[in-house]
Amino acid sequence: MNGEGAGMISKAAWLLQEGRVVRISDVMYYVKGRKNRHIVRVEGDKLTCTCPGFKERGVCSHVIAVSTLIKLEGRRELLDELLRARIERELRAYMKRA
Ligand SMILES: [Zn+2]
Repeated sequence: MNGEGAGMISKAAWLLQEGRVVRISDVMYYVKGRKNRHIVRVEGDKLTCTCPGFKERGVCSHVIAVSTLIKLEGRRELLDELLRARIERELRAYMKRA
């Protein structure tokens, strides 16, 4: 990976750590950078950003931050599902005993 790519990833991590990535809807996220604010749109499995860096390179720290957040949210949903399944199982076992 080149230096620019590593810089983008550490900036994306910083945006997430600082809570600067805000979900507006399923297809829109708001990213508050150090100086500017940007909107990241989700179009299918593609992400686009309003910043000049994205226009230039087709990738930026904002889309990396949003795609990471989406992956984390996916994992949280999975965790909820596992928890729900466990609660249902325990409830069924409890009903049998009662
Ligand atoms: Zn951007």
